[in-house]
Amino acid sequence: MKIFDSKSSKKISFNPLKEGKVSLYVCGMTVYDSCHIGHLRTFLSFDFIVKSFRALNYDVHYVRNITDVDDKIIAKAKSENTSPSAISEKYIQEMHDDFSSMSMLSPDVEPKVTEHMDSIISFIDDLISKNFAYTTKHGDVFFDVESFENYGELSNRNLKDMVSGSRIDIDDTKKNPADFALWKISSDEASWNSPWGKGRPGWHIECSAMSRDYLGKNFDIHGGGLDLKFPHHENENAQSKCNHDGLFANFWLHTGPLTIEEEKMSKSLGNFVTIKDILKKYHPEVIRFFLFSTHYRNPLNFSFHGLDESKKTLDKFYDALRKVDLSDTKNIPLDEGVIESLKDDFNSPKLISFLHKILDKLNKSFLNNKNESNSIADLLISSGSVMGLFQSKPDEYFKFISSEVLITEEEIEDLITERNLARNQKDFIKSDKIRDDLKAKGINLEDIGEKTIWKRVTLDE
Ligand SMILES: [Zn+2]
Repeated sequence: MKIFDSKSSKKISFNPLKEGKVSLYVCGMTVYDSCHIGHLRTFLSFDFIVKSFRALNYDVHYVRNITDVDDKIIAKAKSENTSPSAISEKYIQEMHDDFSSMSMLSPDVEPKVTEHMDSIISFIDDLISKNFAYTTKHGDVFFDVESFENYGELSNRNLKDMVSGSRIDIDDTKKNPADFALWKISSDEASWNSPWGKGRPGWHIECSAMSRDYLGKNFDIHGGGLDLKFPHHENENAQSKCNHDGLFANFWLHTGPLTIEEEKMSKSLGNFVTIKDILKKYHPEVIRFFLFSTHYRNPLNFSFHGLDESKKTLDKFYDALRKVDLSDTKNIPLDEGVIESLKDDFNSPKLISFLHKILDKLNKSFLNNKNESNSIADLLISSGSVMGLFQSKPDEYFKFISSEVLITEEEIEDLITERNLARNQKDFIKSDKIRDDLKAKGINLEDIGEKTIWKRVTLDE
């Protein structure tokens, strides 16, 4: 099994600390706003990574934290005249709803910062007593980057370059401009008592403390979006290694960046696409298919055109599955083609091209050997399962209703009945008109013998 270790920038053999087991910590959401497509890309990638490990018979312990203490949460609470906890509770609920709409698996543990304050404080206390951190005259606590000689090892930077690049905002209470806060004194609503005074932790320390609480000082994999590599992960790495005699995560996995219609996603550009936005229009499996078409490490450009194209491709798979009697589907072991893709740094595009090969076989079986169709369909369903594909019944998939739907299922069925009546009466002008009207609303009819089946298709502009 090979995985790409983002620290060494190399695809290397994955050897876990304990044979057959994987301990994984992923930095989760800061809960002050709705989850957007960039979050989805990151967390769905780790969903796939966990499912891949499990499919390869690893016993995975998956921890993904929730950052529920943050200046952005406090600012939002002020602007909405409510408490920080009301804001974080609202967005935790939203996140869980979004992720379950996408059929994502839940992490084994989902620790919150507010529930781990003792452990965070004792972590900071240890760093101070070992001289890796210091308090300022205001009571703030900073990590002393010069005390860790390998500072910069994760993101491949050196301290001198970092310092010369950060002249603009020098806090005169810090020993070095690159030192970062472990504890900030504050007296507002979101603050806790500590040996240094009332305040709250800096961002990075929470993950060092919570990963140790659930996975120990040394664990297998630390993951997150590439934007977290510096400074967040660099700082976690420094704190933990200093406090634990050089021990921390053995491998680092980072998911690639995402652009929206070729632009960086940002609030100021007004191009924020939330998970809810896309779920209004696309079946969750279409969104999965689109995201998995790009390898998790590569840059991904999100576009609605791309989603439409993914729907067309996924439709072809479901078109074929619809022709098979799936009432007797068998669970079969994963094919070597799937295993090979997973073991190659979770190569989802390679897995998708393998699915296309199975689809070709399935379509050929309809013409040549119908007896084989069922076993090929079983192979297709089992091979798509790690990515969460082909988990719907084909009829249900094609009937997926987007909130922009022009016509309901009931209306469609009524019109089909009306059309069949017209056809029986040889009123083909009427029956053709019904078919064309439905087509204009994105409904394609197909007559199979006496039966008429239908599906929703993407309307071409
Ligand atoms: Zn983190």
